[in-house]
Amino acid sequence: MEEPITLLRIFDFDETIAHTRSETRVVAPNGFEATLRGQQEFEAYMSAAADNVGIKTFDPVRDLQDHGYKIDLSDFSIVKDPDEIIIITDLLRVFPDNSKTYIITARRGNSIGPIIDYLDEIGIDSSQIRVMATQGESKGDVMVTMMKQKIMDDGNSNIKRIEYYEDSEKNIDDVLTKVCEDPSLDNIKPIDFELIINKVINNEGQYNIQRIECNTPD
Ligand SMILES: [Mg+2]
Repeated sequence: MEEPITLLRIFDFDETIAHTRSETRVVAPNGFEATLRGQQEFEAYMSAAADNVGIKTFDPVRDLQDHGYKIDLSDFSIVKDPDEIIIITDLLRVFPDNSKTYIITARRGNSIGPIIDYLDEIGIDSSQIRVMATQGESKGDVMVTMMKQKIMDDGNSNIKRIEYYEDSEKNIDDVLTKVCEDPSLDNIKPIDFELIINKVINNEGQYNIQRIECNTPD
């Protein structure tokens, strides 16, 4: 039998493990150009543009491209000029017993190799980490799938605890909705199930962690 995994550790990459100088360059169908620096500018622009054309998907990038937006994400296929966020990488590099560690990024699949190279560069054993790219799709959905893949004889998931490290409010809200609050998961959650969200907050280059707990109502 495999080692029983009861703890999932899930780390975002951008602005969680490393601060990078990635920019997104956009040309709107009306010719207006924008350069988006950082996650908040990116999310604000994309959600405003999606509202304008009536798109409701979780990640509107592909739909906006279909509507004639030119969106250049090439900076996100590399790890551009990174600063390690040590408060997080100190935790990332220590692997607890009975745990599995993931990096789940909203980037595209072509970023996985450069992220693994970066981990090796900063002295983290990348062979112990699985890097996944959701291409903008919901991380909450990915976590629910992981819980459902580990159902034991008693009908409960063997995943007793998820520790999630993330800077994006949008992704945190999605995970709270899908992993914490969705009553349809109650029948597979072990009685002592815990979701611990560690929100990474950047105060002008000083990072700290705000802990958000999920207390599932009975
Ligand atoms: Mg991020």
